[in-house]
Amino acid sequence: MQLMLCGGTGCDSTGSEKVRAALQEEIEKQGLTEEVSIVITGCNGFCAVGPVMVTQPEGIFYQKIQPEDAKELVTEHCLHGRPVERLFYKNPATKKRISKMGDIPFFASQEFRAMRNKGLIDPELIDEAIARDGYFGLAKVLSEMKPEDIIDEMMASGLRGRGGAGFPAGAKWRFAKWADGDEKYVLCNADEGDPGAFMDRSILESDPHAVLEGMAIAARAINADKGYIYCRSEYPLAIKRLHIAIDQAKAYGLLGDDILGSGFNFDVEVYQGAGAFVCGEETALMRSIEGKRGMPIPRPPFPAHKGLWGKPTILNNVETLANVPQIMLKGGAWYAGVGTENSKGTKVFALSGDVANIGLVEVPMGTSVRSLVYDIGGGVPGKRTFKAVQLGGPSGGCVPEQHLDTPIDYEAIAKVGAIMGSGGAIVMDNTTCMVDMARYFMDFIQDESCGKCTPCREGTKRILTILEDICKGKGKDGDIEELESLCHVVGHTALCGLGQTAPNPVLSTLRYFRDEFEAHIYAKT
Ligand code: SF4
Repeated sequence: MQLMLCGGTGCDSTGSEKVRAALQEEIEKQGLTEEVSIVITGCNGFCAVGPVMVTQPEGIFYQKIQPEDAKELVTEHCLHGRPVERLFYKNPATKKRISKMGDIPFFASQEFRAMRNKGLIDPELIDEAIARDGYFGLAKVLSEMKPEDIIDEMMASGLRGRGGAGFPAGAKWRFAKWADGDEKYVLCNADEGDPGAFMDRSILESDPHAVLEGMAIAARAINADKGYIYCRSEYPLAIKRLHIAIDQAKAYGLLGDDILGSGFNFDVEVYQGAGAFVCGEETALMRSIEGKRGMPIPRPPFPAHKGLWGKPTILNNVETLANVPQIMLKGGAWYAGVGTENSKGTKVFALSGDVANIGLVEVPMGTSVRSLVYDIGGGVPGKRTFKAVQLGGPSGGCVPEQHLDTPIDYEAIAKVGAIMGSGGAIVMDNTTCMVDMARYFMDFIQDESCGKCTPCREGTKRILTILEDICKGKGKDGDIEELESLCHVVGHTALCGLGQTAPNPVLSTLRYFRDEFEAHIYAKT
């Protein structure tokens, strides 16, 4: 029997390491070391009820385990085969306890593709990844497919970049493949910096091999032999697991020289970023790897033609790359089998804020925002009510009650004034001041602006000052019009995506909650 204990950052912070130690002590005390082993997995996803554990092969889901529960769990479940019901998840609607993970509403409507191995493998053991088809996609690519076939399959999948912009990944790869260059690079953007976002970190912590395999396949498609993973240094567990995964993949001949005897070489290095939000912008990220100050540069030329060190470069984020191996193994048509007309596959979200089930979720494109918040998220806890959900973090916008039935789809979400972004979803209840929310995100952006171009450097500062004044009850007639005008100028003239999208939270709150701005200014509330 295996006890799959979540060791992701969420469960780690609620004491999973102490639970592990207590369980191990009990297993030894009861002489069960031959029969029972503990596997520390990456993030299970249901962070709200951590530390969580799933037993295999039965699939019993235990929540909120404390070290004091270890004796009962080992004696009852492991020794006598009697699951401990008091540690099952309790459905707040029915008050009934649920034993199996798939029956819990939080998991029931999710579909795991990018996160297919989460909670099911030890991320520090490559054998466990391989046992779940790890590197099979790469093996197929190297033995059966030409580079053009790889790109055709990516195009057929309809996979769009999950970092926020939603550009078709296959098209990006095609540009890089046909670009002139003796050297080419594949980069993984793991510089996740949105407040409330932890999708990429969790994928790297739970299944780093999927990302490495995705990078190797991309490299084969464009004939690159070197890749970098740009990961913020605030993610020490993800970085540690990446290093372990790279070493193990090299030892197994799955990275490095002559991969699987094919003559194809590809090496990967982890580059630690210092946590500047702007370094998630592709040109700034490349300058940072080059050892320069991480500042964006104008495009074109685009990185697919002139990227890292002026060479053709693919940059995809963690979630995008984690999808690639299964697309190669099962085909682009399989991947495109779920989703909407223009948004295929699944999307990972980090659900946080005023919502009962905080955690990491993966849903088919086309799922409604309402389903995300209520069916999976469990709605707003207590007597408070839903007000809005912020999608896309500081670059995104809010989706209010009247648009909750909007499907998760790049274009549909943009139509209501938000963006898909990388997957941050922050739920806000009826006590949230939306002016203060806009101020918070503008404060973040203003702080993170690299200062290179005037509209962003000065414009965000002025927008922030106005928002601060309004929040302090010092707002005046004309402030709303000035905010709108400044947002328009910054959005249309800033150099990079950070500045261009900075006005979004202000504009979307003005669109749906203008009365709150007016109440602050005219009623001085
Ligand atoms: Fe820097 Fe902002 Fe200009 Fe981007 S828009 S280059 S972050 S100042």
